[in-house]
Amino acid sequence: MLKGKYLNRITEVNKIFIDKIVKDGDTVVDATMGNGYDTVYLAKIVGNNGKVYSFDVQEEAIKSTRKKIEKEELNDFVTLILDGHQNIDKYVKEEVSCILFNLGYLPRAKHQVITKPNTTLMAIEKSLELLKPNGIISIAMYTGHEGGMDERNYVCEYLNKLDQNYYNVLHMEFTNQINNPPELILVEKKG
Ligand code: SAH
Repeated sequence: MLKGKYLNRITEVNKIFIDKIVKDGDTVVDATMGNGYDTVYLAKIVGNNGKVYSFDVQEEAIKSTRKKIEKEELNDFVTLILDGHQNIDKYVKEEVSCILFNLGYLPRAKHQVITKPNTTLMAIEKSLELLKPNGIISIAMYTGHEGGMDERNYVCEYLNKLDQNYYNVLHMEFTNQINNPPELILVEKKG
């Protein structure tokens, strides 16, 4: 299949923004670790002057991510947390410049543990508090699985009402793709 340069996948689109916003030395959060690709990606940007907190409720996610960060020698400043992102405030006590959410289920995992509307929203609310001025929350949303559309609607309903005096909310979608393409929401806290 032919490929574009930047817009093939929602995660690639996301990186256009994250690359610009996240800086060496920043503290950041991967709210949905999964196989750890975003954790490694963020760790490489913030470097060992920075800090990455990464959450998942599945032991398998921690194991596969731990392997990657050890191989890349990133483990000194990356903290892997086996707990739900709704408890983010128990672990992250400082302001952060970026919090990434990649919702839905982990591809190829044995058990399909999915993110859920209530806990996702709780995590987003707490993330807004932790975000420093000009920081960003990025949420990749998937609607193809059962419950995905409900979660997407729940998240949108909340974010669409955020006070524009304090936040910029940008919602992106592939308008010409078939089969429930993923969507991306970015929330910037105004400085
Ligand atoms: N849909 C994405 C991958 C999402 S992975 C893609 O197609 O690439 C989502 C991850 O969130 C999974 O590893 C899952 O275990 C994790 N997860 C589910 N509920 C969670 C919660 N409450 N807190 C943190 N992580 C959670």
